Amino acid sequence: VDVTLVDRDNYHLFQPLLYQVATSVLDPSQIAYPIRAILRRCRNAKFKMAAVTGIDLDGRRVLTSQGDIAYDRLVIAAGSVTNYFGIKGLDRRSFALKNLGQADLLRTRILEHFERAAAESDPEERRRLLSFAIVGGGPTGVEFAGALSELIHHVLSRDFPEIDVTQVRIVLADTQDHVLTPFARPLRRVAQRALEAKGVVLRLGVMVKDVDRAGLQLADGGRLDAATVVWMGGVRAAPLADALNSERGAQGRIRVDARSLRLIGRDDAYAIGDIAQLGDGSSPLPMLAPVAIQGGQHVAARIAAELSGQSVAAFSYRDKGTMATIGRHAAVAQVGRIRVSGFVGWLAWLFVHLILLVGFRSRIIVLINWAWDYFFRDRPVRLITVPDPKQPGEG
Ligand SMILES: Cc1cc2nc3c(=O)[nH]c(=O)nc-3n(C[C@H](O)[C@H](O)[C@H](O)COP(=O)(O)OP(=O)(O)OC[C@H]3O[C@@H](n4cnc5c(N)ncnc54)[C@H](O)[C@@H]3O)c2cc1C
Repeated sequence: VDVTLVDRDNYHLFQPLLYQVATSVLDPSQIAYPIRAILRRCRNAKFKMAAVTGIDLDGRRVLTSQGDIAYDRLVIAAGSVTNYFGIKGLDRRSFALKNLGQADLLRTRILEHFERAAAESDPEERRRLLSFAIVGGGPTGVEFAGALSELIHHVLSRDFPEIDVTQVRIVLADTQDHVLTPFARPLRRVAQRALEAKGVVLRLGVMVKDVDRAGLQLADGGRLDAATVVWMGGVRAAPLADALNSERGAQGRIRVDARSLRLIGRDDAYAIGDIAQLGDGSSPLPMLAPVAIQGGQHVAARIAAELSGQSVAAFSYRDKGTMATIGRHAAVAQVGRIRVSGFVGWLAWLFVHLILLVGFRSRIIVLINWAWDYFFRDRPVRLITVPDPKQPGEG
């Protein structure tokens, strides 16, 4: 086989640590790795940097910003984008965390607002600048809330002696009456207590209806005002799914046959990862990395088997468990019936995320950064790199 990998970015991104770029722990280059370097040893694989604009399934052509690509077999793995659930203006007025640019922008906003608060004489305005609302109590929202609190209380409190950090308000909101829905109830409670111990205010059981310059309007008539709104309310299939004439499931995901991962009614096209929904959608697999990785491995094995006339077993997902950290010494993890939290959970979280990073150099540098942060409570990447006057919530 000859493989062509098409991506609009020239790097692979380890999304689980994006929140650490947004909270000054890591530099973007530590969680992103050049695709060409990953493929260097695969002699029959080539990379093409291009944006895919459409797919002609009948004509077997991928339409890209750099010209069309003909194929015999197609694997769609375009991932997901932030889901704003149709709330008007939310994309402009809130920060998201799905790519490196957004992580840089969010870090810049946090640091810029501290600089502005330090220079502000009006106490009301200072309090407003230091208010953060995070919507979405899933692992991403919880991890970001914990890391933001630690950045402010451990690091910025020393950088900004003119700011009283007790004035900072971090609110984490969710429609559910708990955080971390995928986890068992006792672990959710552990996470909630850990967040509260870090000064994060939980607003649970609330639904966001609208957004304006001052913050969020809630469905129950209440408000959640904050100068910085971070939207971590969910994801939906990448827009490429909209350009396909193929069956769709929840969150706009492309429906695929649960056994073969083929698009419904096609024998030459597959979809895997966040963009795909297996089966009829009665119990869809979560949009998580292990699902994407196992899907990729299965489709590769299936294509190889088909070409050599062999049969291959149906796809079956092996749940490798799930984990989230709330910060220093605090994490929750569950693998089947095994549940871990606290210091042991935190060590497990560190270990797993370290080994999953691509590249030995990245692992070493990330380990050094984590150790530096742990022992000296110091985060090196306190840099304002995107001074854009038209940041979310400002216009
Ligand atoms: C902040 C965050 C934290 C997360 N934490 C965890 C975690 O702790 N554990 C876990 O298991 N999962 C986590 N996830 C989810 C996990 O990252 C995804 O499930 C996984 O990356 C999905 O893999 P994928 O290959 O389907 O998509 P992606 O990894 O998103 O890759 C899609 C690729 O397609 C490219 N692309 C998209 N559209 C086009 C186009 N039109 N043209 C060209 N290229 C295109 C993109 O540039 C991207 O490189 C997290 C996600 C986020 C955002």
